[in-house]
Amino acid sequence: MLPKADLHLHQEWSPRLDRVLARRHHRAPFDWGAWRRTLTTEVSPGMARLQHLTRTQPAPADADTDDAFVDRVADALTDSAAAGGCYAEVRFSEETVRRPRFMPLFRRAEQAVRQEFPDFHAEPVASLVMWHERQRLRRAVNACRRAADEGLAGVDLLYVPYAEEADWRVGRAVAAEAASAGLGVTVHAGEFSPANIAAVASIDGVSRIGHATHAAYDPKLLRLLADRGITVEVCLTANLVLGSVPSLAEHPLRAFLDAGVPVALGTDNPVQFGTSIDREYGQAAQLGLSAGELSDLTRNGVRAAFTSQQRRDALMALVDGSERASRLA
Ligand SMILES: [Zn+2]
Repeated sequence: MLPKADLHLHQEWSPRLDRVLARRHHRAPFDWGAWRRTLTTEVSPGMARLQHLTRTQPAPADADTDDAFVDRVADALTDSAAAGGCYAEVRFSEETVRRPRFMPLFRRAEQAVRQEFPDFHAEPVASLVMWHERQRLRRAVNACRRAADEGLAGVDLLYVPYAEEADWRVGRAVAAEAASAGLGVTVHAGEFSPANIAAVASIDGVSRIGHATHAAYDPKLLRLLADRGITVEVCLTANLVLGSVPSLAEHPLRAFLDAGVPVALGTDNPVQFGTSIDREYGQAAQLGLSAGELSDLTRNGVRAAFTSQQRRDALMALVDGSERASRLA
């Protein structure tokens, strides 16, 4: 089976914690299928659906003890590894990154999953919220710099207005500071409109953009992404559920490939959206990608991963080996 890379995976702390608690107490977890049906029939596509994501929290924050945290991170990583994933990057809120022993607990979860899936690797990324007041953002950036020394891999920038042009003064400074601390920088942009894609692609330190869907309709933006070698994290199911595209068949994934923009895949919020990394690759295949092109998605993911060179080499060898084996089979 082709090893798969997931470069865009949010922690979904409450949905994951709910699954952990449900298993512990032998009860059924929250019904996200019913939630999705309501979302897609009653909420209009776009920002309104995005804003709906954090409104339902089936598990309470005070249940998120250290053991529960390790279990819920392991739950996310196990889903990824069991779906054929070889690499996943998990995005955590700044509050989560500031919790005591965040990095050792993350590694404990990763180690537990590697007992069963020895080829699997994972790295943590911190989502930084640009609209938090100065001091809070300062605390968050400081926490990321400290965590970088312990192995935090990167940061993901979130801002408002998301679907219109934002002011990038603070974002540029945060990206520069993160990059100088050795952290990779990715930014959500272009999910619901072409706004911010050009601005983000021009920020020093930014090597990836989450979604960027609407860049695909503008040849100038495609050329900019290709020229700057920015990897686009395409989340097909997320784009469908939130209404960034009208249908899977109309998803512009192919336009990125034709323009020479490196593409990797992501599951975004897999519990809430009902997907897995295996399903995302399946959807890419439905869009007409060949087996070789699917392997290249993983290669792009590994190349753009916020991980060590040693892990990158091991992951690349795994992809090459599995491709050779499938050619011989
Ligand atoms: Zn996202």
